[in-house]
Amino acid sequence: MNVAIAGAGLVGRVLALNLLNNGYTITLYDSDTAYGEEAAGITAAGMLAVFAELESAESIIFDIGQRSIELWPSLLEQLNIMESFQHKGSIITAHPQDASELDHFISTLQSKVEEASKIKMLNKEEIMALEPDLDQHSKGFYLPHEGQVDAQVFMKTSSDYLLAHPNVTWHERTEVTSLSEGTINIGEETYNYDWVFDARGLGANVEMKDLRGVRGEVFWLEAPEVKISRPTRMLHPRYKIYIVPRPNNRYIIGATEIESEDKSPMSVRSSLELLSAVYSMHTGFAEARIVNMTTNCRPAFKDNLPKIEHADKLTRINGLYRHGYLMAPAIVEQALNEGIYK
Ligand SMILES: Cc1cc2nc3c(=O)[nH]c(=O)nc-3n(C[C@H](O)[C@H](O)[C@H](O)COP(=O)(O)OP(=O)(O)OC[C@H]3O[C@@H](n4cnc5c(N)ncnc54)[C@H](O)[C@@H]3O)c2cc1C
Repeated sequence: MNVAIAGAGLVGRVLALNLLNNGYTITLYDSDTAYGEEAAGITAAGMLAVFAELESAESIIFDIGQRSIELWPSLLEQLNIMESFQHKGSIITAHPQDASELDHFISTLQSKVEEASKIKMLNKEEIMALEPDLDQHSKGFYLPHEGQVDAQVFMKTSSDYLLAHPNVTWHERTEVTSLSEGTINIGEETYNYDWVFDARGLGANVEMKDLRGVRGEVFWLEAPEVKISRPTRMLHPRYKIYIVPRPNNRYIIGATEIESEDKSPMSVRSSLELLSAVYSMHTGFAEARIVNMTTNCRPAFKDNLPKIEHADKLTRINGLYRHGYLMAPAIVEQALNEGIYK
């Protein structure tokens, strides 16, 4: 079967990797280049935060996220990048004056999923046993089962893999102007396929009118004086930050969440908030070097939940919001089983 995928971002790639394993021939269309930075999937921190995201998300993401965590290793094995998968939990902490944030956090989680009842408050020694550098923090939580995928390694390696695959044709810098059941339209031209997938993220808002963008900004810091090995979040009444470790003493610091489709560079307000929060979390960030600042928009529907839509020879997957890495493998599995594999 000849299959077309509109959008070679995170969802498009996870789809392509699955379909190739099942013998399909794939044509990818993306308005960006294969190594471009348009996809939200390349800006992402790649956290697999099954528990932590429940603070502001529906409990359904817990089950979807757990299934994705089971599925990620085989996808990464296919690309030969197992080292970009980390599955050793994450840490939640707060400054002493914001300790009530921790209580609120855990009671929200416990009201949503039973598994959260096993999460216990850690004292200073217990935090330091996991992350010795977090010695300024006297209370926190360890969230087991959480992890991360190195999003940037996944995106780069999947580009290499798909470009080199004999059953893949990748049309770069090719904007899909519209699509329908079994057809892709590029300007005046129409191309027919046995099945079409719409994985254009925010770019699908021409046809999915209730799709919106939620702006997120992240810093990349190089901080040799900081040694944090797990994704770590700091709760705060006004802004919440996370620190996600990457190789070579690098850390992704994020992320803002702004109701806007503006992808312009980071604002002064966001940079002041993110940097002062990260410095208050670990003074070793004072001498860190700012190696990058990136901005992108998460594709989201009103309820911030993902949507799969099927028609004859057509599947649309969208609205993965701030949970693309957490949910894509499981959502794609569901979409394929309900659609083309049925
Ligand atoms: C700052 C930030 C941090 C994030 N951190 C995390 C995290 O830690 N964990 C997590 O799980 N998720 C995270 N996310 C969310 C995650 O990145 C998204 O949910 C995910 O990328 C959505 O995948 P997608 O494939 O739908 O869209 P995208 O990844 O945006 O891909 C869409 C693709 O479609 C292409 N396209 C658009 N329009 C067209 C068109 N007309 N024709 C052809 N191609 C088109 C684009 O060029 C792009 O390549 C984060 C997002 C942001 C912005």
